[in-house]
Amino acid sequence: KTPVHIIGGGLAGSEATWQLSQRGYDVVLHEMRPVRGTDAHETDSLAELVCSNSFRSDDHTTNAVGVLHEEMRRADSLIMRCADANKVPAGSALAVDRIGFAAHVTTELEKLPNVTISREEVAGLPPEDWGPCIIATGPLTAPALAQQIAAETGEEALSFFDAIAPIVHTDSIDFDKAWFQSRYDKVGPGGNGKDYINCPMDRDQYEAFIDALLTGDKTEFKEWENVPYFDGCLPIEVMAERGRETLRHGPMKPMGLTNAHNPDVKAYAVVQLRQDNALGTLYNMVGFQTKLRYGAQAEIFRMIPGLENAEFARLGGLHRNTFINSPTLLDETLRLKSLPHIRFAGQITGCEGYVESAAIGLLTGRFIAEERAGRTPLLPPETTAFGALLNHITKGHIAYEEAPGKKSFQPMNVNFGLFPPVTFSKPEGHEGRWRGKDKAVAKKNAYAARALRDADEWLALENQAPVAAE
Ligand code: FAD
Repeated sequence: KTPVHIIGGGLAGSEATWQLSQRGYDVVLHEMRPVRGTDAHETDSLAELVCSNSFRSDDHTTNAVGVLHEEMRRADSLIMRCADANKVPAGSALAVDRIGFAAHVTTELEKLPNVTISREEVAGLPPEDWGPCIIATGPLTAPALAQQIAAETGEEALSFFDAIAPIVHTDSIDFDKAWFQSRYDKVGPGGNGKDYINCPMDRDQYEAFIDALLTGDKTEFKEWENVPYFDGCLPIEVMAERGRETLRHGPMKPMGLTNAHNPDVKAYAVVQLRQDNALGTLYNMVGFQTKLRYGAQAEIFRMIPGLENAEFARLGGLHRNTFINSPTLLDETLRLKSLPHIRFAGQITGCEGYVESAAIGLLTGRFIAEERAGRTPLLPPETTAFGALLNHITKGHIAYEEAPGKKSFQPMNVNFGLFPPVTFSKPEGHEGRWRGKDKAVAKKNAYAARALRDADEWLALENQAPVAAE
């Protein structure tokens, strides 16, 4: 019984380990922490969340990542099980206590008799006599392995910098100015419509804040100019550089919020903070990823009303991201074409986000299990969130509804734009004009319902012939 070697015990490697173990395979999970750290990880736990504590929307009727959550739950995902068990209130999002979550994943894997966790850096490509194996070393893959991957693939690994949002101690926030409220008082599971802390700004305060962001001392990178940003994770000062109003229409938008201390005066802008740990002692500044220097951050963020005396548990920062040109290098089951005993999983394949990385880990683990049982892995339909994401990675799928001319392969969060178009119609008995907003919701509902129906069919077929470990 040759074990399956998995390199990297992050979101993807942990999920792949679980899936293989549940099918009776022995697994050796190689994780370099704590022997060697990364720029962003702070603990030696498996599946550590390096930035936000949010798995994003948990709505599986109108949101693509919510659909992916649900598909993963139906596919017995360890990551989703531990996320559900460690969730903290966050409106309709699924946010977790990051320490509790990672500890839970670690304990579950350590308990498994057929899993060995080997704390060591793997410095080269896995040799062929290891048999089928997975590289899931993530955006911060250690340099020696990254070099070997680049040498083998002949492709330059693309890299850019991600940004971390600051975390504030709750008891250092001034609640004579700040107040608890979810946008539009939305009540999510376990929440009460008051999941966020809000800090209001008037126009003068906002303008002064933008000036400070624009002139604040930033970390300089030589490579920076050539680095492609993700639009969803732009540093706050870069957003400010794009236009003085950009932040007011982005993370600092005041809509759906009423100042509890001054209900008659509409805030010009609002900074929101989201609960970061189960105790509620820490809150992170939503959308405030930054490349400002630490000193400048503390000074500028204390200009925010309510945060004048804020103590920061963690300031924002910037980190490298590494991913391969998957559509060229990998086959449809994520095997490296030039060395097919190696599969890739997680963010290094060009998906983006905790959930997406874990989902690709889940698929990779299942593909190896199928292969070792002598069967051809059954691909998830592209109408499912699993399939849409896999398609993006292996085919560089350009979003159906986006500009078709886009050429380069870029990491992507799951979104309905990656799914094949869906047909939908006005609900029977719907009277009067079909408003644009209702139509948009109906369309999302149709994407979601089709995805979950097709995921169920796929899972039923996949489970029909039980995998027998050889
Ligand atoms: P990881 O979770 O990083 O796991 C890879 C593991 O491999 C690590 O434990 C590492 O120690 C180990 N490893 C690396 N090289 C070796 C080696 N040679 N030998 C042995 N072990 C090795 N995603 C979000 O959804 N939300 C966010 O807010 C967010 N913020 C981010 C901020 C930063 C600074 C970075 C870098 C990434 C962020 N991401 C975020 C992306 C996030 O890292 C990924 O979505 C997710 O962690 C990727 O999962 P993974 O399993 O591919 O990699």
